[in-house]
Amino acid sequence: MVWIQAGHVGPREPGYAAQTGAAAGAYGSEIGFTRILARKVVTRLRAAGVNARLTPGKVTPLAARGAVFVSLHYDVPTGRALIGHAVTGGGENYYHGEGFGTPSPTPYADSAPHRRATTVSPAVAARSRELARRLARRYRTAFTPAHGARTTFGGVQTPTANPRVMHYYGFYRTRAGARVLIECGAGVTDDRFLRRTGLISRVVSAGVLDYLRARRLR
Ligand SMILES: [Zn+2]
Repeated sequence: MVWIQAGHVGPREPGYAAQTGAAAGAYGSEIGFTRILARKVVTRLRAAGVNARLTPGKVTPLAARGAVFVSLHYDVPTGRALIGHAVTGGGENYYHGEGFGTPSPTPYADSAPHRRATTVSPAVAARSRELARRLARRYRTAFTPAHGARTTFGGVQTPTANPRVMHYYGFYRTRAGARVLIECGAGVTDDRFLRRTGLISRVVSAGVLDYLRARRLR
């Protein structure tokens, strides 16, 4: 089973409900983009014989098993394309209220309640890194100026460089064997590229299939 999350699409996760994503860019907003891209990725994976399922921002069902969890996003106009993955040490990010302010490894006094967290074992972290690398290998072939990309591809993030994507709450609401998040580009800045959801869904699904094949899961 492969879980594809349309980032920020409602219903949203308790504690992160105010995070509605980048407000401008291809398909009108990040939500407009992730809704369409997630469907296309699922369609391609199913055509390849994979049991692929969609989940909205609220990870559904909670703590489901599976081989892969991929969360799809795009960043604000000043951001870039990059890939985060689950790591050991520390848990999910906390924010003020339902998702405001700077991510913190511990709750703020006013953090809204979170649902129960799953754990990231060393084995899950290692598989998540492998999945992220395989996705990056495919993604960098597509994320080019010729395809409309204007920012750069940051590749797989290091464990401490980017807490926002390395301690993403979705990694703690699934029991999937490998857990990653893709910032597909920067909204507005990379819109010409981000409108190519056919191309993006092709490289994302190819990266997932590479991983499943390498682990002999298909
Ligand atoms: Zn996002």
